[in-house]
Amino acid sequence: MSFITNDMAEKKLNMPKCPKCEAEIEILSYSNEEYGKFRLDNEGHPFHNVQSGDGYNYNCPECGHIIAFEEEKAIKFLRSC
Ligand SMILES: [Zn+2]
Repeated sequence: MSFITNDMAEKKLNMPKCPKCEAEIEILSYSNEEYGKFRLDNEGHPFHNVQSGDGYNYNCPECGHIIAFEEEKAIKFLRSC
């Protein structure tokens, strides 16, 4: 890939690996999986009771293995190695 500069190639030596598929990970996929209970209140209006915290899953883009649930941990993972 000709667009990779020397700088980027050097960084690639220190990329963290997925604990499951061992792919070198530069980017994490994430999804926001909010969940909770939904009902109508006494006046018939929809009422959401969200029960998930921040609800984010950060996962390996190769195999989908969940790496972290919090941004802080995802950052630590990408900075590891
Ligand atoms: Zn993986």
